[in-house]
Amino acid sequence: MSLTDHGRVRKQQFHDRLGILHHRHLHRKLKERFPAAFNTRWTRRHWLHASLFATLGALLATIVPGFSSQLQPAAQLHATLPLQLPPLTVRAPGEGAGRLWDVVQVERGQTLGGVFDRMGVPAATMHRILDNPANREALVRLRPGAELAFELDEHGDLRGFRFDRSPTQRVELDLRGEKIHEKVLERATTTRLAVTSAEIDHSLYAAGRKAGLSPAAIAVMTDDIFKYDIDFKDVQPGDRFSAVVEETWREGERIGTGRILAATFSTDGKTYTGFRFERNGKAEYFTADGRPLKKSFIRMPIPYARLSSKFGARRHPVLGKMRMHKGVDYAAGTGTPIMAAGDARVQFVGTQRGYGNVVILDHGRGHTTLYAHMSRFGKVRKGQQVAQGTVIGYVGSTGLATGPHLHYEFRVNGVHRNPLSVTMPPPEPLKGADLAAFKAATAPTLARMESMEQLMFAHADQAKPKKNKRG
Ligand SMILES: [Zn+2]
Repeated sequence: MSLTDHGRVRKQQFHDRLGILHHRHLHRKLKERFPAAFNTRWTRRHWLHASLFATLGALLATIVPGFSSQLQPAAQLHATLPLQLPPLTVRAPGEGAGRLWDVVQVERGQTLGGVFDRMGVPAATMHRILDNPANREALVRLRPGAELAFELDEHGDLRGFRFDRSPTQRVELDLRGEKIHEKVLERATTTRLAVTSAEIDHSLYAAGRKAGLSPAAIAVMTDDIFKYDIDFKDVQPGDRFSAVVEETWREGERIGTGRILAATFSTDGKTYTGFRFERNGKAEYFTADGRPLKKSFIRMPIPYARLSSKFGARRHPVLGKMRMHKGVDYAAGTGTPIMAAGDARVQFVGTQRGYGNVVILDHGRGHTTLYAHMSRFGKVRKGQQVAQGTVIGYVGSTGLATGPHLHYEFRVNGVHRNPLSVTMPPPEPLKGADLAAFKAATAPTLARMESMEQLMFAHADQAKPKKNKRG
């Protein structure tokens, strides 16, 4: 008998027993009796997703155990999907050989005494364990979900007790003798790469969390990778992203997400891609063809400020004479941080007539920037390398200034240029051996993200061909 035949027979038997033959009738009857269960209307799309997730669930199961055998060794990837899977129970090597642990997960609101009581272990035995200050310290701070393991002998007496003293240490106690013997085991963690994809429903943050990204990883995607190309205020439902993320796993559980190695973002009919790559020991994100995503200069070296004076000829606000204004002014409160507009070497930190407290940065290729009237300096000294966005000082009104503002100058080969309109030099693309290494590293990653998106969204796209105007 096939599985479907089997199911049909079971359903028939069920209906026969109830004396109901018509399915719709049964549905209505159930709805009358249990209205709460029918509050959620399952649309065609829900069902599609449910069946899709079931397919992906099966796929995940085939990939995760010994997943490396399923994939090329170069790309140790597995699929991470927004699924609620039961936690895996993994037996540590050597465990189980003649020893039988009862593993208990601490529930919310449960005390240590409560757990021991439930296991039938007398309070005196618990206090024997707590006599050791190191044990006490770890055990009084137990969080819900923490694992405790009890080894009971045939009389129900506690022979062994196991708990996690720290994120890296697991302690095994032997209570059989006069004295408690302690064995400390290192809790090994492994790093895996995961591919994750999601479609934005109402918020990028929610979609990211659902896809298993940590808040920090979401911030990296929006701030470090795509902020130069995408205005995240304009992100629409239906926009999609994929990411290849490092994950830390311990004893079969994911305990954290780390660096984003690659990400794609599709919005407004365009797909943006960013890959992490280390150039000269410094990590940056690049496009698929090896161009930095980061612009060489940020247009405004100060957040949320009002442009109070433009570049060009103007009457000087303090001196009252017509003078060339060689930069732009941004009005902002005293103490507002000022950032380095680009990666640079610090050329000057100090006081100059008119400018007050001033910092000059040398960005190479003939480009320098100047920041004046600072109330105080950031932690910068002459000759130091600073990265774009580093706080180099704070807004003030030192020198010739009527109020707190940043006076900002942009020079190319010694000539003052308007920072608002000057063509910024493109950042250096990867070249030669760097480019070759980058291409070799990123090609399999990109292929994996693309196949993941196809897998996840193929059904959805077929279901709504008219709505998908973005193509
Ligand atoms: Zn000025």
